[in-house]
Amino acid sequence: MSTQAKAQEVASGLQAVRGEILSACRDAGRDSAAVTLVAVSKTFPAPEIVPVIAAGQRVFGENRVQEAQGKWPALCAAHPGIELHLIGPLQSNKAREAVALFDVIHTVDRPKIAIALAEEMARQGRRPRLFVQVNTGAEPQKAGVLPEAADAFIAECREQHGLEIFGLMCIPPATEVPDPHFALLAKIAARNGVSGLSMGMSADFPAAIRQGATHVRVGSAIFGHRSLPNEA
Ligand SMILES: *Cc1c(COP(=O)(O)O)cnc(C)c1O
Repeated sequence: MSTQAKAQEVASGLQAVRGEILSACRDAGRDSAAVTLVAVSKTFPAPEIVPVIAAGQRVFGENRVQEAQGKWPALCAAHPGIELHLIGPLQSNKAREAVALFDVIHTVDRPKIAIALAEEMARQGRRPRLFVQVNTGAEPQKAGVLPEAADAFIAECREQHGLEIFGLMCIPPATEVPDPHFALLAKIAARNGVSGLSMGMSADFPAAIRQGATHVRVGSAIFGHRSLPNEA
């Protein structure tokens, strides 16, 4: 496909996703300004991201620190106002790079990460907004704190590590209807006084918006199919 055809394709994908966000908000009686679209650009090289920036998108998500370091500093320098979200698992030895590069981190899920982030935030004087990832389906292979441990972990982040918890994030099991997982995340957030809800991907973001999502993480519906496997 030519560069121009590709650019047109991503711009129309973006427009379609924005339209679906608006109509899901309308259905749910919600203000669309309360829903942030995080365009997930993982695996896509800079030339495929530029047209999405040109179409007005400023909020992007990546799931690997190293991949993001390779492509985003130059893109951010060329396009002011970019907001970068880390949506993939974080290792504590990457906390320094993550705090330096990302504005929002969606995957805080264990004390070791909370401690490493608190240290780096103090050291660098940067305060990325933090989301706690909850493994709502209790899947053994998936990151995230278990639902029954979420309240205690959020309290630990706040009281022992001095972290402000801005929101919760989940990735429902791929084979289940996502709505109960979204509802569970919203319930845990409400009882902990947390306002952000990062939930909903290409296949299910309208359902997530109906359940209160404040951040939807949408990749393939904008950028097209990923040829490289890169799953969280
Ligand atoms: C890849 C990814 C997404 C986007 O997935 P799509 O199905 O392409 O929209 C969202 N959230 C996380 C955590 C991801 O790793």
